[in-house]
Amino acid sequence: MRFAYCPCCGTKTVLRKMGDDGDVPYCENCQKPLFDMFSTCVLTVAYNAAGEMALIRQSYGQQEFFVGVAGYMKPGETAEEAAAREVREEIGLTVETPKFLFSTWHAARGQLMLCFRARAHSSGFRLSEEVSEAKWFSPDAAKKAVRSGSIIERVVHSTAALMKKT
Ligand SMILES: [Zn+2]
Repeated sequence: MRFAYCPCCGTKTVLRKMGDDGDVPYCENCQKPLFDMFSTCVLTVAYNAAGEMALIRQSYGQQEFFVGVAGYMKPGETAEEAAAREVREEIGLTVETPKFLFSTWHAARGQLMLCFRARAHSSGFRLSEEVSEAKWFSPDAAKKAVRSGSIIERVVHSTAALMKKT
């Protein structure tokens, strides 16, 4: 999101050259640059001792494919804390500190996605109202349960490849 007005004082912004960043919206009243804003989301695949991965269906989402546990980061959290919190809130699993896999820009939503895998301490789900179904999948079954070309597909493949090594 590009700031046309300053969110602090409401003054219309002007473009000002900011070194390597080029033209950046600037509030002349507050004398501060207002860099483009976007949300950062975490996407996590929890896996259990048997090497199975937890995927979900959302109550409000499309029902054809399974997706990963995802959510917005909150101020003050590390990405790892947010990834663990979303897993706990959505499917009721406690996990070891999530391990970072990769980041990617979700162009359609204008969001930065930080992707993780996380080893679960137990296998019993407790679903939030946002989740209609959660299931454990073998790595091969997980690859087939997600939409081809999606970010969660990359997360499933990365997690499967890393589990093979350990
Ligand atoms: Zn201002």
